[in-house]
Amino acid sequence: MTITAIKGINDILPNAVGKWQLVESVARRIFTNFGFQEIRIPILEKTELFARSIGESTDIVEKEMYTFPDRNGQLLTLRPEATASVVRAFIQHRLHLQPSMRKFYTIGPMFRHERPQKGRYRQFHQINVEVFAIDDPMVDAEVIYLLLVFLEELNIPDITLHLNSMGCPDCRQPFRQSLTSYLDSVSAKLCSDCQRRRSTNPLRIFDCKVESCRQLVAKAPVLMDHLCDDCVDNFQSVKDHLDSLGVSYTIDPHMVRGLDYYNRTTFEAITPHLGAQNAVGGGGRYDGLMKTLGGPDLPATGFAIGMERLILLLDEQTDVETGPNRLFVACLGEEAQRRGFGLVQELRLRDLFVEMDYESRSLKAQMRRADKLSVTHVLILGEDELARGAATLRNMETSTQEEIPLEGLTEQILSRLKLSDQELT
Ligand SMILES: [Zn+2]
Ligand SMILES: [Zn+2]
Repeated sequence: MTITAIKGINDILPNAVGKWQLVESVARRIFTNFGFQEIRIPILEKTELFARSIGESTDIVEKEMYTFPDRNGQLLTLRPEATASVVRAFIQHRLHLQPSMRKFYTIGPMFRHERPQKGRYRQFHQINVEVFAIDDPMVDAEVIYLLLVFLEELNIPDITLHLNSMGCPDCRQPFRQSLTSYLDSVSAKLCSDCQRRRSTNPLRIFDCKVESCRQLVAKAPVLMDHLCDDCVDNFQSVKDHLDSLGVSYTIDPHMVRGLDYYNRTTFEAITPHLGAQNAVGGGGRYDGLMKTLGGPDLPATGFAIGMERLILLLDEQTDVETGPNRLFVACLGEEAQRRGFGLVQELRLRDLFVEMDYESRSLKAQMRRADKLSVTHVLILGEDELARGAATLRNMETSTQEEIPLEGLTEQILSRLKLSDQELT
């Protein structure tokens, strides 16, 4: 019996990996321009980190985490999201004492034991952006703008930005009361999960996927109508900054992000091309989280992008990036094979894509392989050529070829391929 990967945990094969590399390289370039620094955090953390940050009574913590005791009996969890770990690292390394470290991004796999469906996997990948210790609404606007710029750079079509405010503890308390009394009035119609949430965490009812609950939720009171004066001003200021950047948005008072720690401005980038699960990225402010995790009381905001869903939206096949010129060295005969092998390594060290055949096959077979590799040039090293002290360089795009002396062959090839680099640019 063959061993297969775990359901919902996938390989990314070489013919698909070009899109992943593109997304990652665009992210690194743009985020760096916006002043973000990469942080790499572990995949495995103590379970209590997520229980405390995400919230005990969220679906993620209750139903979806991969949690298990290690050999010493310590409860560990494969990270279901990145923010808690980035905050943990910030606190642990006392980065608040280093003013140069405020804006972070991280890219990597997350794990949730969800029912696998299109674009949703048990190992999935996220790009996360986090800003710590900056309270100004300007930074909310900048983070939102960064998300949109990134999606635009990848030509993701038909993105709309949805905004909401989750308020602060001051305005959440009165809202909670009015939500609870509404839910009491309709409690008989709620699903069993929501019956329970009604007392433990009523806001979670906005996440319920059961249709009858969704209908009731559509008529429920919304936080937007209960914001305190400070939260109203803060939200207005975020919108003003977005206006000044020319960003358009839709106010969506029913949008509740799936995590407990959000406050004030939250946002999602929505696309009509992903079916019901229509957000490609989203985030918001989570000012209380650092303190909840035992750190200093510093504000924070950020977003996460689901890479699988982003990649579904990239329709064009993207090849792994190489220089514009790619060379195949076709060798005929033992002596040619031996010299070709050395030449290939030498050219690779000079920063060129070079491949060869290792099996001494016919020229026809080698040319077929060269074609599959989409090379721009083929160097033919044959017995006749070697006897003449020469090799043949074929340009696959123009179907022309020329003979090059073996003397100084490396430099000759490089000068020709670099020259056509310049012609291409
Ligand atoms: Zn408030
Ligand atoms: Zn429900």
